[in-house]
Amino acid sequence: MEDYTLFLIKPDSTVKNHIGAILKIIEEHGFVIKEMKMFRMDRKFADRFYEIHKGKDFYDNLIKFMTSGRTVATVLYRKNAINELRKVIGKTDYHETKPETIRRIYGETITRNAVHASDSPENAKEEILKVFPYFKFKE
Ligand code: ATP
Ligand code: MG
Repeated sequence: MEDYTLFLIKPDSTVKNHIGAILKIIEEHGFVIKEMKMFRMDRKFADRFYEIHKGKDFYDNLIKFMTSGRTVATVLYRKNAINELRKVIGKTDYHETKPETIRRIYGETITRNAVHASDSPENAKEEILKVFPYFKFKE
């Protein structure tokens, strides 16, 4: 289901009061916010969310960062949401990304890169259900 994706506003953005500015960009690009909540990830949740990266050299830093403050999680809907959102956020490393992307505007480093977006329909479904277990996908 490529029309739904999980979008996270990471702790570097929430601590700098960039939630509203980032959501404004999202809505301007035609995404509909279907679910939203703000929470602080604990170690257990972060380990589960990032289990695909376990064992990578940046893993400990990533978990430390993601548990350092509040995250805003949303389910976004639009046609071809997964691909369209990856374009709007830009690449993992904000240096390499186009000037108008969220990570170039708000990212600080490759780890503190402002936002997360699902990268495939399979991962989007899994990630959405990790944060919003009751979410109903409409075909
Ligand atoms: P996200 O999954 O957060 O949307 P992404 O898909 O662009 O980002 P992934 O490869 O899934 O990137 O990595 C997940 C997160 O781990 C990145 O967003 C970043 O915060 C961190 N990360 C990835 N690669 C590196 C790296 N080489 N060095 C440091 N941190 C990294
Ligand atoms: Mg990823």
